[in-house]
Amino acid sequence: MADETAKAQTAQPGGDTIFGKIIRGEIPVDFLHKDDKCVAFPDVNPQAPIHFLVVPRKPITSLSNTEDGDAELLGHLMIVAKNLAAKQGLDDNGYRLVINNGKHGGQSVYHLHIHILGGRQMGWPPG
Ligand code: AMP
Repeated sequence: MADETAKAQTAQPGGDTIFGKIIRGEIPVDFLHKDDKCVAFPDVNPQAPIHFLVVPRKPITSLSNTEDGDAELLGHLMIVAKNLAAKQGLDDNGYRLVINNGKHGGQSVYHLHIHILGGRQMGWPPG
């Protein structure tokens, strides 16, 4: 079982996460983007030549726990994701957005985030 999948079996929602520490500047990362609603930074364990995360500042645990009032924020995350993908030269060949949700979704960090993966051919179905 892949390490991230193993982690997803035991990861528990609730409390502060590593992404909270990154957002507060307690763990240094090379930010690709920062605004008042979200940040973006490279995934520490990249699954493609380009793999970064867009993370809302609001500590929503997972997509399941979003509310109707989060619609604008969720839209903003998608717009930031596609702008950063374009900036990284991914528009020509395309790329993939992923939100892992809960145990079966393979979520290991319980702070909502969008993965953006590109730079290679993706397979389907995902593992
Ligand atoms: P998920 O499995 O969808 O919850 O994704 C969590 C992602 O966070 C994984 O792809 C990890 O590699 C990534 N990750 C964990 N810690 C860090 C970190 N300190 N900096 C960047 N990415 C991280």
